[in-house]
Amino acid sequence: MDDPREPDTAGIPEGTPAAPEPAGDRTHGTDGTFDLDGVAADIDAIEALLDGVDRALSRIDAATYGRCGTCGGPIEDAALAEDPTREHCGGCRPLVGAPPSAPGVG
Ligand SMILES: [Zn+2]
Repeated sequence: MDDPREPDTAGIPEGTPAAPEPAGDRTHGTDGTFDLDGVAADIDAIEALLDGVDRALSRIDAATYGRCGTCGGPIEDAALAEDPTREHCGGCRPLVGAPPSAPGVG
């Protein structure tokens, strides 16, 4: 254990993973090559999420959070609990091309 590059595993119980596996590790393909498409998709998803959060914060500032951006009606509490960045009520989501709500929500 004199090599500083070796992780210090002393005191870690046998069978304990050194680090949690990232969910859906797409940085490397099955052949070990770097999966740029997977990384680009992850970045796109993160940017879309951040855009949604920015818009939600703007709606909070404007006191319109929780109101449908199309009809102005209330967005269902369960829908907001599922996705706090939701911008449309269950009735308007299909009209704006958003994916349908999960069963029982929206
Ligand atoms: Zn609506």
